[in-house]
Amino acid sequence: MHPIAYVNGAFVPLSDAKVSILDRGFLFADGIYEVAAVLDGRLVDNASHLARLQRSVGEIALPLPETLERIQEIQKELVARNALDSGLLYLEVTRGADSGRDFVFPKGVTPTLVMFVSAKDIINAPNAKAGIGVITVPDIRWERRDIKSVALLAQVLAKQAAAEAGCGEAWMVEDGVVTEGGSSSAFILTQDDVIVTRNNSNAILPGCTRKAVVALAEERQLKVEERPFSVAEALAAKEAFITSASAFVQPVVTIDGKPVGGGKVGAMATRLREIYIDFARATAV
Ligand code: PLP
Repeated sequence: MHPIAYVNGAFVPLSDAKVSILDRGFLFADGIYEVAAVLDGRLVDNASHLARLQRSVGEIALPLPETLERIQEIQKELVARNALDSGLLYLEVTRGADSGRDFVFPKGVTPTLVMFVSAKDIINAPNAKAGIGVITVPDIRWERRDIKSVALLAQVLAKQAAAEAGCGEAWMVEDGVVTEGGSSSAFILTQDDVIVTRNNSNAILPGCTRKAVVALAEERQLKVEERPFSVAEALAAKEAFITSASAFVQPVVTIDGKPVGGGKVGAMATRLREIYIDFARATAV
């Protein structure tokens, strides 16, 4: 079966899915994206992703070309047309293609909206069972990381460095504390069983999975503290883990080659992963 993409109102074969070289997403990274998981052919926690999309576009004064209701309809149709059971749906909206390359917002230009899907077995991901290593890198990003901008060069470099080190993620560090992963939120479990993840602010992306995991943990009377933590605190922790739409909850077993939690997958990360999978299945649309 040939993969189908969505481009500005049309469902087309992925190989024919194209936008202009004058598109401002291409020229200026003037765009916003979202990634939602698909499980059992349904979208996971999509209301949360659409709410963040609306907030992100609002922060850069980019009007959505479709309503959120219509966007969800298109998402569902794309999943169905691809017969996707498990994987990811990528969505991007940009300020469109002008007649040239002018920094100032164009007038009368329709924003670009594209989507595509990729198959991925999120539930049986080997990293979830074995855990991943992370490296730490300086956080060299701009100051509005709460906006899910397509300007991801710092994360590309960070994740490339992680891959070259045989690791699954890079934790970005600023002012002596971890901000977040290259494409995930960072968590630790302290020796006295407190789940710690950095508080939301302009310094990090408000992760949808992070939000759900914090709420699910609190519902179960687990102790959660939203505050920054250092790499030293993470190394001394009982466990570490990451969350994201594409990984759900994944244990971290080494940081810069040093074991965390004895270098073994922790019970809390395993439990939160199971809880999140149940939530994802129960609430997917
Ligand atoms: N932080 C960053 C920088 C990300 O890019 C992502 C996901 O791509 C996340 C956190 C996790 O967010 P979510 O759980 O919404 O996927």
